[in-house]
Amino acid sequence: MDEFAIPRKRMAEHLRNHYRIVDERVLDAMNTVPRHLFVPEALRSQAYKDNALPIAAKQTISQPFIVARMTELLHLAGTERVLEIGGGSGYQTAILARLARKVFTVERVPELADGLKKMVRRLGIRNVSVRCGDGTEGWRVYAPFDAILVAAGGPELPQPLLDQLEIGGRLVIPIGETQKSQQLVLATRTEKGFKTEDVGPCAFVPLIGEHGWKEARNSV
Ligand code: SAH
Repeated sequence: MDEFAIPRKRMAEHLRNHYRIVDERVLDAMNTVPRHLFVPEALRSQAYKDNALPIAAKQTISQPFIVARMTELLHLAGTERVLEIGGGSGYQTAILARLARKVFTVERVPELADGLKKMVRRLGIRNVSVRCGDGTEGWRVYAPFDAILVAAGGPELPQPLLDQLEIGGRLVIPIGETQKSQQLVLATRTEKGFKTEDVGPCAFVPLIGEHGWKEARNSV
């Protein structure tokens, strides 16, 4: 038990009762991972509120609801190899690490990738590999993946990520024609191709890279 155990439990209950998150494994992970350790010290008291918060390098730690929702959409049973793009603070990474066999995470900003590596070590998480680079290219040597989660918003589905998805695998990514208004898109690879569906509006920092936005607009 840590000093935030009660607010964390309340947050998980809110995810269940208000947002209708139903996957018990996801709720359990949200009730376990210490989100307060992933936010800047000055914001610690706000760590279990239902908000995104600023982290280093003008990026954000995603809202707990969106972390839970995206994770739930991946239908993780515990055996999967998951690719995460936009590791940021490492909070979503830590959630995924509890729910899948192995997590590969790519973060573009060196400062954040370093922080992420340190957090993984500090929390004793053993099934995560971190790389600093452009995640829109995926992580070819470890492909294919059973699930891919992209935590930054792009203009379209990055082709390398589709190519690196296992048949039956699921990819969840925010997509929008502008950097301000996005839809969460779930793409599933079938024997014949891809099935895509919109699963709700969202707002993420831009996905910047070869198969994303070329540069950040209006975001700095
Ligand atoms: N899941 C993270 C979200 C961080 S915000 C968290 O909750 O902390 C999104 C992150 O995506 C930022 O850290 C940003 O630097 C990163 N990002 C943007 N474009 C990227 C790219 N092409 N490859 C890898 N990371 C990228």
